[in-house]
Amino acid sequence: MISLTEARDLIAKKIPALPPVVTSLAGANHRVLRQNLAAPEDIPAFDRSAMDGYAIGAEDDAKQFQIVGEIQPGAVPKWKIRRGECARIFTGSPVPAGASLVLMQEDVRVAGNLMVPLKRSRESYIRERGEDARKGDILLRTGTRLGPGELALLASLGITRFKTTPAVRVVHFATGNELVAPGAKPRPGQIRDCNSTLVAALVERFGGQLIKQERVKDDFKLLVKKAGALKKSFDVLLLSGGASVGDYDFGRHLLVKLGFKLHFTAINLRPGKPLVFATRGKQAAFILPGNPVSHLVTLHVAVRLAFERLLGTGTCWPLARIKLSEPLDLPPGKRETFWPARVEVQQGGLVARALRWQSSGDVTGLPGVNALLQLPAGTAGPGAGGDVSVLMLEVP
Ligand code: AMP
Ligand code: MG
Repeated sequence: MISLTEARDLIAKKIPALPPVVTSLAGANHRVLRQNLAAPEDIPAFDRSAMDGYAIGAEDDAKQFQIVGEIQPGAVPKWKIRRGECARIFTGSPVPAGASLVLMQEDVRVAGNLMVPLKRSRESYIRERGEDARKGDILLRTGTRLGPGELALLASLGITRFKTTPAVRVVHFATGNELVAPGAKPRPGQIRDCNSTLVAALVERFGGQLIKQERVKDDFKLLVKKAGALKKSFDVLLLSGGASVGDYDFGRHLLVKLGFKLHFTAINLRPGKPLVFATRGKQAAFILPGNPVSHLVTLHVAVRLAFERLLGTGTCWPLARIKLSEPLDLPPGKRETFWPARVEVQQGGLVARALRWQSSGDVTGLPGVNALLQLPAGTAGPGAGGDVSVLMLEVP
């Protein structure tokens, strides 16, 4: 059985990035940039006042200045400031020719048409052309995930069309004769399907788009028909349940029948040992063990990497040493364990707390999960107060 590290290496090796598409600024939130973007002009593009005040020549040591005009932001000053003259100016206004210093309005006295400096600061209060970036400087690199800060920069640069990766197209089948919809009343022996809801939420977070999601009975022929009909319309096929080797766990035979090549069928991981990964050309498929906690873990530690590869962004594997607030009573396990946890701020520092997890099927411990405690094979649950290895799920 391979380790999680080996499994991740295989996933990274087998999955290439999707071809980029041209995207407009308005539709680019959360997308991954697929080209380097340079400043098309100096930033700022012209000398601008950083304060409300009066613009003068920096060398001008006159005792009082004649106010010769006013420059509002957006205006273009056509005149020049000479010795003994100043211009009323505002934050963001272009600095007129001849001026190289702005006196803050708090530091002057104004009487009629005359301005008298009360105090001179060493600061020029001018944001000079090009002081933030020069024309041609690369400001965003390929592989960057675009969020509010990146998009605001692009807007200010006037870059409104650029290459990004499209959303990863995902098909999800939740398999199991026992499953009913969350809104249905289960008959004896049946359970509500919660994995579909979990998968939908995480696929969206990982940068995917569910193009199809369906509950299907444990019926090999039916699944072959349904999944076979989809041909090349998806990038990732996710199957919930049927990853194991039980009589009805035919997932891997299904993938082979569909023309996928299996790369691994189990990893030394708890929970989530019977995880299957396969590819068919540029398409990837995973069979996730049906238990909801196994789902949560395998989606984060394995499937997420497939999305990162397809999107062409860097790998998000934020492991940090964080103090454990309460002991985790657990005998040493044979497999590398990822235990659902919550990282919180306590007294100004980060602490991690293991959440309740009775069995892989225990869904009551799922709320609040934002991290996984990583326990190497052969180690017991750690005591409180020491640092543990924590995989952050939400903060890259
Ligand atoms: P399987 O991987 O199909 O053997 O399923 C393992 C366990 O997870 C079984 O107890 C299933 O009933 C349960 N399970 C499978 N699929 C789901 C689902 N979509 N929602 C909730 N539980 C599930
Ligand atoms: Mg099943």
